[in-house]
Amino acid sequence: MTRFHVLTSEFLHETNTFCKLPTGPETFAERGLLFGAEAIAARQDNNTELGGFLEAGRAYDWDVTHVISAHAQPGGPVTREAFDTLTAPIIEAARQQRGTLDGILLGLHGAMVPDFCDDGEGELLRRLRAVVGPDMPIGITLDPHANVSRAMCDLAQIIVSFKTYPHTDMRVAARHAADILQRTMRGEIHPVTLRVTRPMLEEANGGRTDTGPMLARLERARAYEQEPDVFAVSINGAFPNADIAEVGASVTVTAQGDMARHAAFASELADDIWACRNDAINQFHTVEQAAAICKAYRAEGRGPIIVADYADNPGGGTYGDSTNLLRALLDAGVQDACFGPMVDPAVVQQLHHHAPGDTVQILLGGKTDPRFGGTPLDLTATLVSLHPTGNYTGSGAMIGGLQRSWGPLAVVRVEGIEILVVTVRAQMLDLQQFLAFGIDPSRKQVVGLKSMQHFRAAFAPIAGQVIVCDSGALCTVDYAVLPFARVPRPVFPLDRDIDIAQWRHDNHDGVYIPGQT
Ligand SMILES: [Zn+2]
Repeated sequence: MTRFHVLTSEFLHETNTFCKLPTGPETFAERGLLFGAEAIAARQDNNTELGGFLEAGRAYDWDVTHVISAHAQPGGPVTREAFDTLTAPIIEAARQQRGTLDGILLGLHGAMVPDFCDDGEGELLRRLRAVVGPDMPIGITLDPHANVSRAMCDLAQIIVSFKTYPHTDMRVAARHAADILQRTMRGEIHPVTLRVTRPMLEEANGGRTDTGPMLARLERARAYEQEPDVFAVSINGAFPNADIAEVGASVTVTAQGDMARHAAFASELADDIWACRNDAINQFHTVEQAAAICKAYRAEGRGPIIVADYADNPGGGTYGDSTNLLRALLDAGVQDACFGPMVDPAVVQQLHHHAPGDTVQILLGGKTDPRFGGTPLDLTATLVSLHPTGNYTGSGAMIGGLQRSWGPLAVVRVEGIEILVVTVRAQMLDLQQFLAFGIDPSRKQVVGLKSMQHFRAAFAPIAGQVIVCDSGALCTVDYAVLPFARVPRPVFPLDRDIDIAQWRHDNHDGVYIPGQT
């Protein structure tokens, strides 16, 4: 039996085109930039795409060349320098090894926007195809917050998105893609990936899978995956904060045979996503409403109330320094609370000139773009502790065992609230992000945090109640305040009165099949 040679890489970024912080090479270095054996050592045993690729590699006895694992915190467009520098080793490895290479597996996000084009993943695949030609089997995994482009479908035969949000199946999805690649390399199957869209920025609940209609859709997707000629069905809630031509929720099917039938199946799921476009499960409180609920809450053995600032989710490319929720919690006089993160490198530096116990006057947060999420808070703070590295190792379902860092950080107390002031942007999704710095959220009455949905994986189990609010930061659910200019119209919810029959007539029924549409 032939021993297949497979090239692997991970290159992920979710780009919020409204974020004014460019994503350069240093942003990748901050979050994670590892090559070859170093990446394998750090990631193969964890819930990562690379872990799934390598698991398949062992099962099928592949000769694997892993080039790079590059991740950056969601933020503004990826600079040309970062894009060129980080993709070059992948392209170069493919060039050097194309004579022996049988297939390629890439862990991608699907919502990367470089500063010179709309579609980072499409551009990477284009550069790869230029080297390996049109027939090399390529499988990619995507985050379900992908904005899947026609180019991705044209250039990768195999596309598999995670089926969870909070994302807890990276490894499973990667193994799935790798299994399809194996069958493709053996010549057993000849997959193609089709895409079906509707004119909407995102699925009504951002694709959440802890509850809601995505669960039934994914059940149907899994059932359809069992049919002959069907290899993967993916449902992408999309990433709406991207002012690009191909943004929005999609269903993809990686299959062969009767593609019209597969498209009809995907269209049924897409129709359901469209029909439920107004059915948001979250009730988005104002920060004042949220603070009042927190003030009245009594844990009494149930665990704390968790209040999430949905709009200032650094995981969606926001600045993480929105002050509106913290201001409201302070104004309400909330006691026995913790809050994090507040991203403010200048204040962290200032605090590192003091000692724990000192009283320090700080001007906290709201500095990057106070139009979104509030102006700086003038606070008298007590310094609780200093942490020069801000390093922690995740313990939950999403990042368990993975090393991450807030950069230098400080914990301060202002009235009844302990605040985690950090240097590096990241969303709150693991208890260790508090625990490693002396704050035990499970013992608080109130936990304020910045995250949309990922926090639920670790924080819902310790919570007596969970509420979400919209602070008006960059991931506000009020999309009308964002300066969309390039997204094709009409699109929901920017446009509310859409003639869907007309749209389908004008857009091939929303169906894209490579080589056919
Ligand atoms: Zn995601």
